[in-house]
Amino acid sequence: MKVEALVVGAGIGGLVAALELRKAGIDVRIFESAREVRPLGVGINLLPHCVRHLDELGAMERLLEIGVSASEQVFFNKFGQRIWTDARGLAAGYKWPQISIHRGELQVALMNLVRERISADRIHLGWHLEAFENRPDGVAAHFIDRANGDAKRQAKGDILIGADGIHSTVRKQFYPDEGPAKWNGALIYRAVSETRPFLSGRSHFMAGGAQTLIGYPISKAHMDRGCSLTNWAARFFIDPARGFAREDWNRRGDIADFLPRYENWRFDWFDMPELIKSAPAVWEFPMVDRDPLPQWTFGRATLMGDAAHAMYPLGSNGASQSIIDANALANALKSEENIESALHAYENDRRPKTARIVLHNRQGGPERIVRMCEERAPEGFDDIEKVIPMVELLGIIDEYKKLASFDLETVNR
Ligand SMILES: Cc1cc2nc3c(=O)[nH]c(=O)nc-3n(C[C@H](O)[C@H](O)[C@H](O)COP(=O)(O)OP(=O)(O)OC[C@H]3O[C@@H](n4cnc5c(N)ncnc54)[C@H](O)[C@@H]3O)c2cc1C
Repeated sequence: MKVEALVVGAGIGGLVAALELRKAGIDVRIFESAREVRPLGVGINLLPHCVRHLDELGAMERLLEIGVSASEQVFFNKFGQRIWTDARGLAAGYKWPQISIHRGELQVALMNLVRERISADRIHLGWHLEAFENRPDGVAAHFIDRANGDAKRQAKGDILIGADGIHSTVRKQFYPDEGPAKWNGALIYRAVSETRPFLSGRSHFMAGGAQTLIGYPISKAHMDRGCSLTNWAARFFIDPARGFAREDWNRRGDIADFLPRYENWRFDWFDMPELIKSAPAVWEFPMVDRDPLPQWTFGRATLMGDAAHAMYPLGSNGASQSIIDANALANALKSEENIESALHAYENDRRPKTARIVLHNRQGGPERIVRMCEERAPEGFDDIEKVIPMVELLGIIDEYKKLASFDLETVNR
């Protein structure tokens, strides 16, 4: 069928959607609120099931030139004792790697691919969606240019895809009374620091209990120079009565506000206070998500990525699931007979799967292993098997992989 898609949002999901739709023979235009795409953000993970789609789009090799193919995720308690090592990506037998990469560099690389494959004039920067109308024969979207006196613009197409992130305007139009994102009382401070390589050099660590610190390398260029550009995130709970400032990916934080919490975390394999102190800047973000929705598709408009299923940043699924959405949407449009049935087939496939991840992440995702370990052995342990038997531990890890569809068998098949 001949379709022109309007994609709202040139984040990770929107850009991959554009590439997928074009590959499926669908005309596409992208509308992004920001006037320029700058490499904002810190690290992000692409799990093998979404890397598989990126590979099919011809993007994987380019991303491996920028990011790091992760080899393992190692869980530690807050004393730096190793709880478990979970092999990752190629090292775990997947046919595709797990790629850890700077989010902004990923976005710029995807944007360049869209320019090459689709054309720069299909990308409209500085177009902020205000509202849209579902019409019997298509959609009409209304934009403003916020840097240009709110100048008004309009675009028409056959379908509209809301890939406009956690503060989605498209979602708000569907659910005007939904209110703000839900906060669970935790704050996350994120940053990147130049450090020496640690563990395997391609390892992710997750250390702590109720309070955690995670870290992983994200730059191939640094690795080639024998050092590590280490993405890290410190997460801890504060008194919810204190409230939180609206989630904004670009709000600067102050190291002094949380460094004392990690002062004793000096392990023989890594010095956490040094890691924190060596960051040139930190960003503060409340741990928020949104409730799963009963419906994503209304007429000829639908949702994807964070707009559809914003989730806690646990288990490396935020970007990965948005990429899988993009692939599923393009496949449905390619194979179904008409637009309505395609959008519903896409939603029927993706909405229940992503809802399960949102809800599971509220229970702590696979990272709940460190919290369990702290509850059962608050002073540390001599034998981890007596704290969390391996069968229980593997049960938690494998359950999450199956739930998020990235268990080895599913991905390789
Ligand atoms: C600036 C920024 C930095 C981030 N940094 C990190 C990070 O360091 N680590 C991490 O794990 N996740 C980060 N994220 C979130 C992460 O990118 C997403 O969770 C995930 O990749 C899913 O992507 P998405 O495309 O659904 O949403 P996003 O990547 O959030 O993209 C949404 C896009 O829509 C645009 N947009 C929003 N409203 C409108 C509108 N009304 N009209 C037009 N365009 C609109 C936004 O400008 C943005 O480009 C960041 C997101 C942003 C926007």
